[in-house]
Amino acid sequence: MSEIQKKDLHHLGVAQLAKALAERKVSAAETAQHFLARVKSHPELGAFVALNEDATLAQARVADEKIAAGKAGALGGVPVAHKDIFVTTDFPTTAGSKILAGYQSPYDATVVRKLAEAGVVTLGKLSCDEFAMGSANENVAVPAVGHDKAVPVRNPWDASRIPGGSSGGSAAAVAARLAPAATGTDTGGSIRQPASFCGITGIKPTYGRASRYGMVAFASSLDQAGPMARSAEDCALLLSTLCGPDPDRDSTSLDRPAEDYSRSLNDSLEGLRIGVPKEFLGEGVAPGVRAAIESALAEYEKLGARRVAVSLPRTELSIPVYYILAAAEASSNLSRFDGVKFGHRAKQYSDLADMYKKTREEGFGDEVKRRIMIGTYVLSHGYYDAYYLQAQKVRRMIADDFQNAFKDCDLIAGPAAPTVAWKIGEHGDDPVADYLADIFTLPGSLAGLPGMSLPAGFDGHMPVGLQLIGNYFNEAKLLGAAHRFQQATDWHTRTPEGF
Ligand code: GLN
Repeated sequence: MSEIQKKDLHHLGVAQLAKALAERKVSAAETAQHFLARVKSHPELGAFVALNEDATLAQARVADEKIAAGKAGALGGVPVAHKDIFVTTDFPTTAGSKILAGYQSPYDATVVRKLAEAGVVTLGKLSCDEFAMGSANENVAVPAVGHDKAVPVRNPWDASRIPGGSSGGSAAAVAARLAPAATGTDTGGSIRQPASFCGITGIKPTYGRASRYGMVAFASSLDQAGPMARSAEDCALLLSTLCGPDPDRDSTSLDRPAEDYSRSLNDSLEGLRIGVPKEFLGEGVAPGVRAAIESALAEYEKLGARRVAVSLPRTELSIPVYYILAAAEASSNLSRFDGVKFGHRAKQYSDLADMYKKTREEGFGDEVKRRIMIGTYVLSHGYYDAYYLQAQKVRRMIADDFQNAFKDCDLIAGPAAPTVAWKIGEHGDDPVADYLADIFTLPGSLAGLPGMSLPAGFDGHMPVGLQLIGNYFNEAKLLGAAHRFQQATDWHTRTPEGF
């Protein structure tokens, strides 16, 4: 690799970097230094919340030794940054919350460990909405690298706009070429929606495919980890590594070995039936988004796929159902933050109950408090049957709707979100405006299905993401369909100006 190419290392994807590293055209240490310098030169995005250069460089040196000894894993020396919801021993973990200030995990999340075992070098921790609650990465309470206070993450395509959330730091970092790839988590769309808003590729696998061990819990029946990168090919490499059973640590991780998702990337699309739910292209979808999705679907027809009309009749109900169930689970999960076990504790209090109260009052942001209150309400005696139980029943019906649709199609396609990224502050203090924007990602989350978003064009100057949803364990089919599309189009190679 010539010196000129070394200056442009950040334009290489995961697969290309892994190859250059394995062939020793560039060292893991040089690669880590290059990306760290890029991260530090773009503090304006607010994408990173923690760096530990010594740890990153030490990991890179180990990767170089393994490469030299011929013992490197598939991702030997590739830098990846983690959403700050995964606990890490080499970096602090805050989940974007003041209540975890000063928390240092004694262990690594399984996803982090698995990637490290394959040779990944951790570049740093990425900003996210507090406890992954949000759609805009505006609910952040911890300072970003290069800032002395908390800042919203900015979209590299337009700094006045949000990057999406809750994995907004991950999406912005990958789009701005500050990292070749990042981890994200998706409870109701937090991988797919920010991937869509930042013009990158991200996949949430089937619920239970990746271990939740060491992922700070938000809504345990929905939370799922996945990779965010520029291409489906890169996502396939990472997903093959981070998935797999974790029986001793996550009882909901599924007993199926990890697959090699790279193998089926080139499968033909001839005869593939792509179901387009009529509810996904109806009223409320911005015309520019609809146009981009229509041309993506036309491209798929050119590639041999067949478009079929399907229906997911309870799409709209996914919003109240999700915001009842996710809040209920959050209210329970977040009860552990009491000032005793982790992070922040109020300085002044009169007795134990007062200490809990003041710690939680000071430590949690508004959106988190709102969810805890809604969740406590819907689980309370007298309201449990009317809200929580009812929502569980409708959740089942939403999952059944998908199985009905999959009788007529192999994959489901539509927009990841009804609009492109909105302006920072545009939704003001109207949380419902954010909730409504989740309409196309929530149904798949409630059903536990794998879903992804890939770049499919622009509405004005902002990227539009095509969402693909597969049946359980059909990650390979999703990634293959995305890869074929990316070989025929160049949306995923577009770089925001200045990066
Ligand atoms: N926007 C949704 C919420 O606020 C989804 C977040 C997520 O997937 N973590 O809950």
